[in-house]
Formats: sequence, C-alpha cells, structure tokens
Amino acid sequence: MKRKRLNILVTAGATREKIDPVRFISNYATGYFGFQIAKEAKKRGHRVIVIAGATTQARPRDIKAIDVQTSAQMKRQIEQKFTWSDCLIMNAAVCDFRPGKTAKKKIKREAQKALHISLQKNPDILKSFSSKKGARMMVGFALESENLEKNARAKLRDKNLDLIVATSIKSGSYPFGQAKISSLLIDKNGLTRMVRQATKARLSRILLDNIEKTMIN
Ligand code: C5P
Repeated sequence: MKRKRLNILVTAGATREKIDPVRFISNYATGYFGFQIAKEAKKRGHRVIVIAGATTQARPRDIKAIDVQTSAQMKRQIEQKFTWSDCLIMNAAVCDFRPGKTAKKKIKREAQKALHISLQKNPDILKSFSSKKGARMMVGFALESENLEKNARAKLRDKNLDLIVATSIKSGSYPFGQAKISSLLIDKNGLTRMVRQATKARLSRILLDNIEKTMIN
C-alpha cells in the first residue's frame, strides 16, 4: 500500500554566487512560491523540509528550513536529504553561472577602470539527480519568454522530470514574489494544463493535488 504521508523536499529562493566578500550575482526570486508550496504540503500532513537560498520571506515556524547561499551548497544539502525524500520540488532559481574566482578581499573601485568577471557554468542540480531518482517524484519549474510549451517539454525530458511548471515571462511582466502568474503544467505522460493568472497559493494546491494523485492514490 502506498504511504499517505510523503517526505517532501522543496527548494526555494535564489542562490547567490560570490564575487568578493561583499558582492554577489543572483536573481529576483524571493522564495514566496517555494514557501507557499511548503505550507500547502505541511497543511496536508506531509513531512516537509525546505532548502532555502536567499529569500525575502518570513519563515513559517512549523516548517524546517535549511539555509544555503550558493548553488554548490544547495546541491550538497539536497544530496544529504535525497534518500529521505519521496518527492523533490525544485522551485529554487539556481544561478546558471558563478564567478570563476571569488576575491578574498573586497575588490577596490579605485584600483581599476573596469572590472571583468568571467563566469563558469554551474551544474544543473535537477539533472544531476535524475539518474538516481528511483521511485521518487521530481518536479521542476521554468520561466520562458518564448516557445513555452516546446521549451518546457524539452526540459521535462532532459531532466527526466515527472512534472514541470512552466511560466511565461512576457516583456513587462514580473513573475516574482506575490505576482499572479500564468503557468503551463506538463506531466511525463504529456498531459498539459494551462492555469491562467493564478496566485501561487492556488498553483501550490494544484501542484500538491497532482503529487498526491501520482504518489498516493
Ligand atoms: O533549465 P532551466 O534553468 O530553465 O530549468 C529550471 C529548473 O531547473 C528549475 O526547477 C531549477 O530549480 C532547476 N535548475 C537546477 N540547477 C541549475 C539550474 C536550474 O536544478 N543549475
């Protein structure tokens, strides 16, 4: 019989990649969506751990959260909790690139006319776990400014996901924080569902319905 209480690992927020002791590169993710998903999962009685990058969110007291900064730290924490998990919801906006070198001391403005930072590609965390997923359910997210469905399908396949939540980002739209978003959900059987102008609380309910249907019912 399938278990009714799942162990759900959620990543949230943005990773930060250090340039020097006071500067970093990152993105606009706030962690709001990740924590909405975590709250919804907890409300339904599941065990939840959040691995949180940089966020602007107050932490719900009843949810265990592990704080990380960099993509490498996020990957390490997922590695530690992966065996425990029945489901990985990879909502964090992981930086695709990091400075090749982190300066040990603050880079002085006076010392140079321009600063050239060379960036290295970060490993794709989700993809790196896809070969070890076993019976786990893995959920990915994507922000796409064009070819929403085509790109989302390619990512679902490439990362061996069970479900992807793809959000279109049109010019002038701002999908971060508490914004309502229009998202296309695609599962591994190719079934699609478009949810328009939804709050992230609503999308979290839809997501958890889908996870429970796959993992429990
Ligand atoms: O390929 P793209 O970055 O659009 O895919 C987004 C999905 O992949 C998200 O679920 C994100 O958390 C995850 N990701 C990752 N490691 C990266 C970049 C993205 O796991 N380095």
